[in-house]
Amino acid sequence: MSLYSRILVAVDLTDDCKLVADRAKEVAQLSRADLHLIHVIEPITLSYGGDIPMDVSAVQDSITDQTEAYIAAFAFDHQHLVYGRPEREIHRFAMENDVDLIVVGSHGRHGIALLFGSTANGVLHGSPCDIIAVRVGAQANAHAES
Ligand code: AMP
Repeated sequence: MSLYSRILVAVDLTDDCKLVADRAKEVAQLSRADLHLIHVIEPITLSYGGDIPMDVSAVQDSITDQTEAYIAAFAFDHQHLVYGRPEREIHRFAMENDVDLIVVGSHGRHGIALLFGSTANGVLHGSPCDIIAVRVGAQANAHAES
């Protein structure tokens, strides 16, 4: 029996996420698990509070096109592009699809930056399953070079 059967890796659009995706692939291979990738697009209207006095649909479509191309480059068998708040949609996907492990990147924020919160913290709190937080960013690079 394998440890995990369905793994969900959440990627943003930063270079760091290649590391996160690679780590998720390794864990999925070890567990012989299904691996799903998710990216959540925050609709412009949501980000700006819902009241924009102009039609932003062309901009939103362009963001979606570029994001689809970016996500396709990961070349996962199962890739999902959804709209909404990242934490909420990642939890929703995990619950609806019997995911038993979520993999996210983490910048290891502390102090005041931690108080402001992060997507990784948001995913951790209230997660329906286990989480692996892959250390990314400057601290991870410094550690790898030392
Ligand atoms: P952050 O806390 O915003 O620095 O994001 C840390 C991690 O949260 C990223 O490495 C991703 O794993 C995940 N994440 C952030 N934004 C998104 C998004 N829009 N869609 C999917 N995952 C995301």
